[in-house]
Amino acid sequence: MEKGRPGRPVDAPDTDGGLAEDPADVVIHTSALRKVYAKTDFAAVDGIDLRVRRGEIFGLLGPNGAGKTTTVGMLTTRVVPTSGSARIGQIDVVAQPTLVKQVIAVVTQQNTLDRSLTVRENLYFHGLLFGIPRARSRQRADELLEQFRLTRWRDSSVFALSGGMAQRLLVARAIFHQPAVLFLDEPTAGLDPQSRLALWDVLDELIGAGQTILLTTHNMEEADHLCDRVAIIDQGRILALDSPAALKLSLGADAIVTVVTSGRPEELADRLRRDIEGVVRARLVNGGVELHVKGADRLLPKVVRSAESEGFDLVDLSISESTLETVFISLTGKELRD
Ligand code: ATP
Repeated sequence: MEKGRPGRPVDAPDTDGGLAEDPADVVIHTSALRKVYAKTDFAAVDGIDLRVRRGEIFGLLGPNGAGKTTTVGMLTTRVVPTSGSARIGQIDVVAQPTLVKQVIAVVTQQNTLDRSLTVRENLYFHGLLFGIPRARSRQRADELLEQFRLTRWRDSSVFALSGGMAQRLLVARAIFHQPAVLFLDEPTAGLDPQSRLALWDVLDELIGAGQTILLTTHNMEEADHLCDRVAIIDQGRILALDSPAALKLSLGADAIVTVVTSGRPEELADRLRRDIEGVVRARLVNGGVELHVKGADRLLPKVVRSAESEGFDLVDLSISESTLETVFISLTGKELRD
């Protein structure tokens, strides 16, 4: 799924990894950022260099345990780095944590809504907490309820909200004080597809209004749909960093064909490699073969002919475009999903 937000440039290959821009436009800056937790003998985050630009939505994409939450923890002052540095704008996260907290907002994987308050009160009191005058807090709370499609539930208890509505309220509360950067840790984890789309809609609007966002996700569709640039991360390291389109282009394949056969998949893979032009790589998956192919002209008939000529019975055959999942697989040899 390609995004095409009005007023925003369509993804273009970005080979500098974001290092060549005006420093005043860099909202998040990390240098060799590293975290080794006490009593562990490995780095959860192992030397990460990031530059996130103003108005950009930047994704950290990786499997469970890749180090995404730890990275966000350091950027939001919850986790103290072992070494390296991190700044939000010009503010150092270790030296000036209180200042950092004033200019950022974080939505973690926990529901931190106040259950003794109504939906609207959760917003209103948050405004007062940030020193925003009562009348302005009331007005902003109502604007946010509208923007996040929650006006109908304004006087309800937060217990009445579905998981998706609660998540929208958490994001609305987070941006109440108009933070320079919003951190979203796995924003749609555990949401049903409809709630996920509803959250993507409000995030698209926020992005359109210029909000800088850093999100973590292990959902490649989410990274692809929402993010201007994505860092693919595994075992605490960045393996690739670019726009989703450029990352997919870097695969060198424009079609992914999956063939499931009753015969030996290794033999089928060898046969297909020999017969099909443009096979960039072939790997074994769940009793079948996945081919990454460049130049997809009349590909399926060719695959069928090649398999049948060797006496393979085809059980299933499908073709799809390359995805960020395929990029991850080609980088690590393993799947992104749990
Ligand atoms: P998830 O989506 O599961 O949260 P993640 O990519 O966010 O994954 P982290 O939570 O940052 O990954 O974890 C990175 C590594 O650090 C993992 O091996 C994890 O077990 C370890 N880790 C995380 N928090 C701690 C902690 N407080 N103490 C020790 N090890 C930790």
